[in-house]
Amino acid sequence: MESLLLTVAYIVSSVLFILSLRGLSAQETARRGNAYGFAGMALAVLATATSQAIDSYALLLLALVVGSAVGAAMASRVAMTAMPELVALLHSFVGAAAVLVGFASYLGDAGGHGPRGILLGEIAVDVFIGSLTFTGSVVAFLKLRGSVSGKPLILPARHALNAGLLTACVVLSVAFGLAPDTAGLLYLVGAALLSGVLGVHLVAAIGGADMPVVVSLLNSYSGWTAAAAGFMLGNDLLIITGALVGSSGAILSIIMCRAMNRSIWNVVFSGFGSDSGAQARPQSGPADAQGEVVETDVEETAASLLAARDVVIVPGYGMAVARAQHAVNELTETLRARGAKVRFAIHPVAGRLPGHMNVLLAEADVPYDIVLEMDEINDDFPRTDVVLVIGANDIVNPGALTDASSPIYGMPVLKVWESGRVVMFKRGRSAGYAGVDNPLFYERNTRMLFGDARQTMDRLVAAVKARAAA
Ligand code: NDP
Repeated sequence: MESLLLTVAYIVSSVLFILSLRGLSAQETARRGNAYGFAGMALAVLATATSQAIDSYALLLLALVVGSAVGAAMASRVAMTAMPELVALLHSFVGAAAVLVGFASYLGDAGGHGPRGILLGEIAVDVFIGSLTFTGSVVAFLKLRGSVSGKPLILPARHALNAGLLTACVVLSVAFGLAPDTAGLLYLVGAALLSGVLGVHLVAAIGGADMPVVVSLLNSYSGWTAAAAGFMLGNDLLIITGALVGSSGAILSIIMCRAMNRSIWNVVFSGFGSDSGAQARPQSGPADAQGEVVETDVEETAASLLAARDVVIVPGYGMAVARAQHAVNELTETLRARGAKVRFAIHPVAGRLPGHMNVLLAEADVPYDIVLEMDEINDDFPRTDVVLVIGANDIVNPGALTDASSPIYGMPVLKVWESGRVVMFKRGRSAGYAGVDNPLFYERNTRMLFGDARQTMDRLVAAVKARAAA
């Protein structure tokens, strides 16, 4: 009876997770999606915690209390701009947990059902993906945090090194499966160490414009790790949840690769079989990044906005840093109330997290129907009077289309320079995440509006309102 109840609880949780993913696929239903996910996880934890499988409630309670306290503290303190680092760190926990559960299953023989040969195979797969996910995520965390260089580490024989490590892991895993009793422990440790090195190398070799895909790929790996652990432990819910996370992460990676004109294999194997992108090209500065910038001020910008009929706003990482989204929404409302057409152009890798800008704009109550994806709006710039680029840089860099030596060469960008006027909100002339200069600064129709995006936007809103009332 109890196992039937547990099965029912797991099925309900799985359905809630599927509904959650469905809800999260559109901005209008994202809140509901989150609620489904929360309910599914709460039910899953409750059902597992009250099941027969538990033999130490004190330990479980301790883990729940400590885990919840650490998780709540991290989530409440993290800045929106540091979210990718936190996500990468959490992926590393999934990998580490899978490796530990793999070793525990082997040593304690606490695995799931079925013949021992199958269990050993499941342990080998679980430890391989888990260790790769753990070390890969730690490297991604350090890169996103800026603790190590974001540039790709390109070793001369990197493909041979990857192939050698992979082969060695397979050989050690087979030896582990064939070894008698617990004698396979050394082989398992060896496979775990080598797959860890493979994880470090795979992620270290990726950089620049490919980093966003790495974050979603590691998300996918962590899902497959959990699914492998589910097979090992005979836990259906873990298998379903892991497969959902694994496949949705893989789909997101493919969508982002397509949007950025990259091949997924090229990203996974860091330049394998392709000569496009940063990895295969010399890392020198853009050819035409020179000239004088022309500065503007809020009064001039307010005047051009009030004269404009068609305005596009391009938000980027700097808008998130400055927390300028509410002021941006106020400007949008003011201009729309005066009859101007105002729309937002969202690049797939704007900010530091897939969907980063959409979340910030939704938080500021910007209507969803004026927030457009790059492909939906990129052809409209020649008909746009004014483009406001708020703390964005790489995603509007024309060098990505014209400069073959640029690390972001080949990445589609928003062609804002085709509009009547571009106003760039920045604090200075610093480069963006990819570290390359931006020829857009020197275009004849570009005006630089220097200052913190939030403070500048507040002053701009005031100036627009004052002029509109005059
Ligand atoms: P960028 O990192 O290219 O540029 C952000 C700009 O914002 C900087 O040039 C900076 O210039 C400016 N800025 C910073 N703080 C402020 C502030 N307070 N006020 C005004 N401006 C400010 O951002 P984009 O969004 O254009 O591009 C995203 C980049 O991040 C891409 O290269 C992408 O590959 C990468 N990336 C994206 C991820 C994702 O999933 N979306 C994940 C990992 C990386 P200044 O200092 O002069 O003010």
